[in-house]
Amino acid sequence: MDEGDRAASLAGGRLTIDLDAVVANLRHVEAATAPARVAAVVKADAYGLGAGPVAAALAGAGCRDFFVADLAEALDLRPHVGGQASIHVLHGLWPGTEALALEAGVTPVLNSLAQVRAWAELARTEGRRLPAVLQLDSGMSRLGLSDDDVAALAAEPQGLEALDVNYVMSHLASADQPGEDVNAAQRASFERLAALLPARPRTLANSAAALGDPLTHGDLVRAGLALYGVAPGPGPAAGLRPVVSLSARVIQVRTLPAGTGVGYGLTYTTRGTERIATVGVGYADGWPRALSNRGAAWFGGVRLPIVGQVSMDSMMVDVSALAPDALGAGEAVELIGPHQSVADVAALAGTIPYEILTRLGRRYARRYVGGASAQGMRA
Ligand SMILES: *Cc1c(COP(=O)(O)O)cnc(C)c1O
Repeated sequence: MDEGDRAASLAGGRLTIDLDAVVANLRHVEAATAPARVAAVVKADAYGLGAGPVAAALAGAGCRDFFVADLAEALDLRPHVGGQASIHVLHGLWPGTEALALEAGVTPVLNSLAQVRAWAELARTEGRRLPAVLQLDSGMSRLGLSDDDVAALAAEPQGLEALDVNYVMSHLASADQPGEDVNAAQRASFERLAALLPARPRTLANSAAALGDPLTHGDLVRAGLALYGVAPGPGPAAGLRPVVSLSARVIQVRTLPAGTGVGYGLTYTTRGTERIATVGVGYADGWPRALSNRGAAWFGGVRLPIVGQVSMDSMMVDVSALAPDALGAGEAVELIGPHQSVADVAALAGTIPYEILTRLGRRYARRYVGGASAQGMRA
């Protein structure tokens, strides 16, 4: 058996990531936002899906712009995207890491006057202009230059002369609610601040804005969630292809008489004779404990309710609706797939799809399908 089969035979859960679907979703966002360019946001290990294989597939499909959270992620990403791709670091640089960033050829998003000054100082030392993105805080109060910072920069334009500002950037607090007034207010504030600085290309939109509000497109959109096949914001995932499938394998099945308690705290009691399967995925695998007595697995189109508390490494599902011999030890039930999307799981668990994806655990047998050179990417 090959590595992938061996891993799948050993693990309690199987995670499949469809790289062709990631590329199809890139094309979908490109079509929705042309002539803007589409950058791929691959921070947090590509939302838990594996930044190496995901970014390599995107780079293979022509994507040249990537965003990560910090320099550590940028250094890890470089070998997967080639030397020509731009890697933008959303948090900017920790003081003292500027030379390392220069060596790695990454582009910091500069969020404060201190970050601007440190990068400009290195540029002067090097005797050449260094690439940068300038982030302006248009109203989210998370990252970026304030009104006063922008005024200070505008007052001393030589402060920016050492930099090649590729983009001015901002981020929307409520992009998933396109009708909200705060989006228009942030756009206006972004325009007002950007107008104080030398004219540069603009980047404002995340996935929700890219697919929901053409007024935000600017010159570059920054897509994360949509590439991973999840509709950003309300409405169906029209045109996006699911990327993730997750299954859990049956460890054992027991038949319990009415009135039997199940799982930690015995929070579930059988109502009649019930067949209960224990499957090998739990909250340590990122499966939400909030789905105790609430969520479900699926098998052959049949819904199998989760009964009792989700444990660390396992949980119980009621398989009474299946024929007695339909599901045996070692076989798999669907947790994420055609019957239950990432968004469904998130909604049931009272959280957002981002959190479900980024918490996908490390114990799964991971399989990448599709992608130009998927064979080389198993490790
Ligand atoms: C994470 C992030 C994105 C991508 O957001 P999605 O909703 O996943 O498309 C874009 N821009 C910034 C600044 C981000 O932090």
